Amino acid sequence: MTAEIIAVGTELLLGDILNTNAQFLSQELAAMGITVLHQHVIGDNAGRLRELVETAKARSELLIFSGGLGPTADDLTKETVADCYHDTLVFDEEEWDKITAFFTRMGRETTPNNRKQAMVPARGKKLPNANGTAPGVWFEDGGRIAILLPGPPNELRPLWRAQAAPMLAAWQNCVLHSVVLRVCGPGESEVEAKVGHLFENANPTAAIYAKTGEVIIRITARAATDTEAEAACREYAKNFYALLGDAVYDEDVDGMEDTLVRILRGQGKTIAAAESCTGGLISQRITSVPGSSEVFGYGFVTYANAAKQQLLGVEPRILEKYGAVSSQTAAAMAFGALDASGADIAIASTGLAGPGGGTPDKPVGLVYLAAAQKNTVWVKKLTIGGRSRETVRLRASQQALDMARRLLLELLIPEARMFLRGENADFEAPALDL
Ligand code: AMP
Ligand code: MG
Repeated sequence: MTAEIIAVGTELLLGDILNTNAQFLSQELAAMGITVLHQHVIGDNAGRLRELVETAKARSELLIFSGGLGPTADDLTKETVADCYHDTLVFDEEEWDKITAFFTRMGRETTPNNRKQAMVPARGKKLPNANGTAPGVWFEDGGRIAILLPGPPNELRPLWRAQAAPMLAAWQNCVLHSVVLRVCGPGESEVEAKVGHLFENANPTAAIYAKTGEVIIRITARAATDTEAEAACREYAKNFYALLGDAVYDEDVDGMEDTLVRILRGQGKTIAAAESCTGGLISQRITSVPGSSEVFGYGFVTYANAAKQQLLGVEPRILEKYGAVSSQTAAAMAFGALDASGADIAIASTGLAGPGGGTPDKPVGLVYLAAAQKNTVWVKKLTIGGRSRETVRLRASQQALDMARRLLLELLIPEARMFLRGENADFEAPALDL
């Protein structure tokens, strides 16, 4: 099946907003094994839109539209496409009730032009929108399909996933199932080098996306039933596990914090965090997970040396001798958090998030992380150079959470060194050339 994506909106042509919907839809269609031949951006103009739709419809079985479903006069996608697909629009009481209820909830009143949003195809189908007032639309004409989606990404994405994609799969006599693997450790290019050949497959398909501090692999299978499609995904996922090992930290989660909280709950353990350069981000991420109160009691944001001494008992001579950004300070912070909180494990961060404050010895992006449990501490050095403050902090938090995960699961912590408490009061030798 071949497809074209048509993004409608003069604001896109003016550069006021970025066409992220096209990127999203292209990725989704590729995952379904549908070939996207063209992406278009067109302004709010009925004549030019009609001309484009006629051309695209003649050569592609599927056209997907984003935008122009609003209540104002310049929102004309539905009317124009209805015509091209030989359908008409009728007023839908049910949609109208939803729209008025939506406005009442917002403490506002509908205006006459809102009625436009309650117009649905006579022959085609409406796609209920759970996050906004404009329903999506499905037109069909002689085996040609047009799917119209609202412009706001927070409406378009869920509507696509919940309604349009399953309908499209059903139309192709199949169902889709996706499994999302989360990978932490190797970067996107390293993952590509290891498993790149697995992204060539037709069914299941696999696609890779880079996010700050991690890589996401989405496996999607088409089959006659959901059970079969899921089984195909699981089978294909084995190839990734075989090549990436425990760098695949979880499946179908929103982030490392979900995984860590699940592991802690499973083991009945608690965690504490002592943070300098991440300024509370590690604690924020852990506490964003529902149920984290069972596993998290203490987060220390110790930015100043005095705070590191007072709250975590970091010895002044360690700070003087090695500086606040050092493996020794990170280790002492982790032990300090462990002792002060009574938690089972503690993680610590200290580093230079930038953009100022770097020296040749200690450049911006230098971060030391530590993870302590009982009398052992693991220390890791990161050099996250040339990145924004936000990126340094996000990557540092990701690596710290991963160290905790690995400690709990008794996995190797790559590029980290272990010290015993009291074995060497200064954590001085051996030199930490990490
Ligand atoms: P519309 O449905 O055309 O009225 O669009 C409503 C809003 O959705 C716009 O103001 C944008 O914020 C957003 N939007 C529209 N089209 C796109 C697009 N292609 N990519 C990302 N956001 C969009
Ligand atoms: Mg618009």
